[in-house]
Amino acid sequence: MDVIYRYDPYAPLVTRKILDSQAAIDTLIEGNDRLIHLVERMQERTFGAHAGEPIVIPLSPLTSGLPLFPGAVPTQAPFAAVLGCSDARVPTEAVFDQSFNDLFVLRIAGNVLASECLGSLHYALAHLKDSLKVIVVLGHTKCGAVTAAVDTHLSPDAYVNIASTFALRSLVDQIQVAVRGSSHALDKYFGDVRPKQDDMYRSLLVGVTAYVNAAVSALELKRELTRHGTIGPEVVFGVYDFESLRIQTSPALIPETPRLRPAPSNAEELAEYAAELVNALMSLTENDREAAYLLSKHSWDTPCPRTP
Ligand SMILES: [Zn+2]
Repeated sequence: MDVIYRYDPYAPLVTRKILDSQAAIDTLIEGNDRLIHLVERMQERTFGAHAGEPIVIPLSPLTSGLPLFPGAVPTQAPFAAVLGCSDARVPTEAVFDQSFNDLFVLRIAGNVLASECLGSLHYALAHLKDSLKVIVVLGHTKCGAVTAAVDTHLSPDAYVNIASTFALRSLVDQIQVAVRGSSHALDKYFGDVRPKQDDMYRSLLVGVTAYVNAAVSALELKRELTRHGTIGPEVVFGVYDFESLRIQTSPALIPETPRLRPAPSNAEELAEYAAELVNALMSLTENDREAAYLLSKHSWDTPCPRTP
């Protein structure tokens, strides 16, 4: 099977115009859908009826964002800023199917709002405000930083070993707001019968915290920008799900749930969101829940089984 990127330097130069936050959000979601569709077609052609047919992806100088001729230097003009995790499995441009000069990207383990990230965003808002239409906090499922924060919460004795340096503790501590909010939501759901040390409880807590942590960073970011009097692009958040490759704001595929969601405005909205997540997660069948959230269940290291 061939995947062909077909570059046409003479394609019409129609500049993409992204005029507001909603158009920017739509562009990001369309890009994520393109990635999902591409992978579906690759899998279909690996195992299905259309084996052998190439997949052709058209590229023009503008969609690739690359210079058309030697020495051409583009003006920096991203339409979205993205605060994402450093996890190597979640390359920001790739999961949104965007290219050079589309995204202003900040990556840090656990997508926490470190002061340097905030400073970078202040820079972007000051110097790129004509093009920048939305700010996205992007978490992901099965996040190592979130898992470490959950483990320090569930096993305080192990805290010093898990977060063994000042810098690591700083990072893990920033995620505790999300861990505690998620734990509280799960405890309210389970009542007195919660299986606190159980592996499933840990997996559920990691699963919920991935979403709540993205919402916490978005809330903090929105507050910080408001505090500094910045009237800028909308702040939204979402989570990249490894099983579906989909960026979403609920672990269950509930049709009306937005793929990217506005940042919560206050603690009450955050708590409502955590409760909503727990209900959504518990609405999945036990098998689906296990498949999606038991941390060690799946691996991409397995060789692809060949079709007969
Ligand atoms: Zn991560």
